[in-house]
Amino acid sequence: MTILGIESSCDDTAAALVRVGDKGAEVLSSVVAGQTDLHAAFGGVVPEIAARAHAEKLDLCVEQALTQANITLADIDAIGVTSGPGLIGGVVSGVMCAKGLSAATGKPLYGVNHLAGHALTPRLTDNVPYPYLMLLVSGGHCQFLLVSGPDNYKRIGGTIDDAPGEAFDKVARLIALPQPGGPAIEQAARAGDPKRFAFPRPLLDRPGSDMSFSGLKTAVLRQRDALVSAQGGLTKQDQSDLAAGFQSAVVDVLAEKTRRAFDHYPESANRSLCVAGGVASNSAIRTALETVSDQNEARFIAPPLALCTDNAAMIAYAAAEQAQHRPADDLTLSARPRWPLDQTTPSMLGSGK
Ligand code: ATP
Ligand code: FE
Repeated sequence: MTILGIESSCDDTAAALVRVGDKGAEVLSSVVAGQTDLHAAFGGVVPEIAARAHAEKLDLCVEQALTQANITLADIDAIGVTSGPGLIGGVVSGVMCAKGLSAATGKPLYGVNHLAGHALTPRLTDNVPYPYLMLLVSGGHCQFLLVSGPDNYKRIGGTIDDAPGEAFDKVARLIALPQPGGPAIEQAARAGDPKRFAFPRPLLDRPGSDMSFSGLKTAVLRQRDALVSAQGGLTKQDQSDLAAGFQSAVVDVLAEKTRRAFDHYPESANRSLCVAGGVASNSAIRTALETVSDQNEARFIAPPLALCTDNAAMIAYAAAEQAQHRPADDLTLSARPRWPLDQTTPSMLGSGK
């Protein structure tokens, strides 16, 4: 089947076409229109501006995705759209666009959880068998999931405050590095000494896989203030050392908590640790997770960067998998600002159409 995917839950407007057949899945096209420039002056995503930009760009993204895949709306079998969680104005824009296309073409519509899109990406890219251990680590989320089916997610642990991506972004701001903070910190850390500042490794002294990153951010703030009051500002080397120290603390926490998450993953010959979300593009984090994976004799799967960050191909793919297990949504499909992954949609419970 060929599915059109639509994504607009944060600050990327995206449309994609994915074909799923006996031999696996193929991304026919994936268009992502970012909004970084629109929000740059405000130091964060402004929901109202994001919603307007989505409403303006969605049609164009869908058109481009169809053109790049060299197909028309008549050739698609279904439409998958992110119906939550996310910024409500953006999600509503995407859902309205998808409903319009569904009503006009008669193609079935599937509302998809954005996090399910991320969580199922390793199946889109590598056809990873269920169950697998997933670390979803992005700008807004951080959680370990045992994924046993397209609608079967067990949460093993996660952050109790900030998500790591958010921490990378805030720390970059604190030490005068550009946004998005993740790539800027990774780059600066290459020239830094991770041992110069002793930053905490929060919650490592407690059992389980819950994490915390806000105290780490405060520790960087204190260190920055100490440097600024002692010498009037930060040198380039200070920036690099602060970045390296912060990044190595995040790496240590993620690696140790991943080690513990394996305790919840039943032994089998075919285990995989998969990562998704923008932070998973960090090479220090990837390397550490790969080591933990090797130690547990599991395959390590890190999808290509373009499919790790927000995109619509993952939404199209999630819709394709869910279409095998549940009825389509109807035009009453609504946008959900909050939607924990372990909660199913009404139609998945059989009370839908
Ligand atoms: P969500 O998907 O949870 O709603 P989001 O859309 O903000 O959140 P993504 O697009 O998956 O998240 O990822 C963006 C985040 O990833 C940003 O916070 C960014 O700083 C972080 N990030 C990107 N590249 C890197 C990197 N190399 N190292 C660390 N963090 C990174
Ligand atoms: Fe995301």
